[in-house]
Amino acid sequence: ALQATLLRHSFGGNEVLHGVSLAVQRGEVVAVTGPSGSGKSTLLHLLGGLDRPDSGEVYWGGTRADSLDTQARARLRANSVGLVFQHHYLLADLNVLDNLRVPGLLLRQELTEQARELLAAVGLSGREKAMPGQLSGGERQRVALARALVARPSILLADEPTGSLDTANAQAVSLLMVELARKNGAGVLLVTHDEAMAGRADRRLHLLDGVMTGSLPEM
Ligand code: ATP
Ligand code: MG
Repeated sequence: ALQATLLRHSFGGNEVLHGVSLAVQRGEVVAVTGPSGSGKSTLLHLLGGLDRPDSGEVYWGGTRADSLDTQARARLRANSVGLVFQHHYLLADLNVLDNLRVPGLLLRQELTEQARELLAAVGLSGREKAMPGQLSGGERQRVALARALVARPSILLADEPTGSLDTANAQAVSLLMVELARKNGAGVLLVTHDEAMAGRADRRLHLLDGVMTGSLPEM
């Protein structure tokens, strides 16, 4: 689903990723751990095409993403990559259902069906018309997760998605993420400080000072 080779990235002459390679298969959940400042979020930004690597390559389902222009990359991302961050980034002026429909840009009926199904899957059916401000932190994060999955992406990238939640909500969201990704056959790359969450992954990678260690599958 996702592959990256020899990614390097610098900020102002300071290289923070020194040639990171990884691959995530469909239906596989891979956890990335590593100390603060080791480059985890930077890596996820490159993998999600939110930023371009200085060198190296990113492939989404076999298509090279990093060399596409911004528009083409955004279009491909909308169909292939779901992103979840520590903060939910829901749009405060849109109700729950419309927040899910926004990534599709078109308020198509099929997207509405899919959005309702996902809201049910994250335990929020009946809350379609609620505004984000009326939800609890855990509920908002579950909406953000549903939104990331609404376009049925083949790749889910999550950066400490449960970082702002209490233990019970963190566990609920992490279980949902793994379960939904497996059901949709997506490959999941999950940055987490949560040992319990990392322990539930199929595979673990560790990033230390911009260098990735851990088990790589045969490529
Ligand atoms: P944390 O666990 O605290 O989230 P992280 O592993 O996600 O840490 P990154 O956010 O990827 O770490 O940062 C890696 C390094 O790159 C850090 O030294 C950070 O200061 C630097 N960095 C990240 N973003 C920028 C930026 N936009 N401009 C300059 N330096 C940056
Ligand atoms: Mg980070």
